[in-house]
Amino acid sequence: MKGEEWIRDLVKIALELEQIDCGDSSCVFAARKTGMRTNGGCRCLKDEVKPELRRILHRLAFATRKLPPEARLFAEEVPK
Ligand SMILES: [Zn+2]
Repeated sequence: MKGEEWIRDLVKIALELEQIDCGDSSCVFAARKTGMRTNGGCRCLKDEVKPELRRILHRLAFATRKLPPEARLFAEEVPK
């Protein structure tokens, strides 16, 4: 995949969102929901972040899930 360095940076930042996980079965951020999960909705960043910012992060997390595999590979490439 061809692209500029700024795209790589943005994809890397977006992929970091997948590391966030509250352990709920409907966690908005967690990429892999394994093991015992709670119910009741995603609690990620609920008390730490203002609702407006949390909404933006949710949207970014949803958009990140739609990244094609080649975008993920591109982000992991070491630039020459
Ligand atoms: Zn969550």
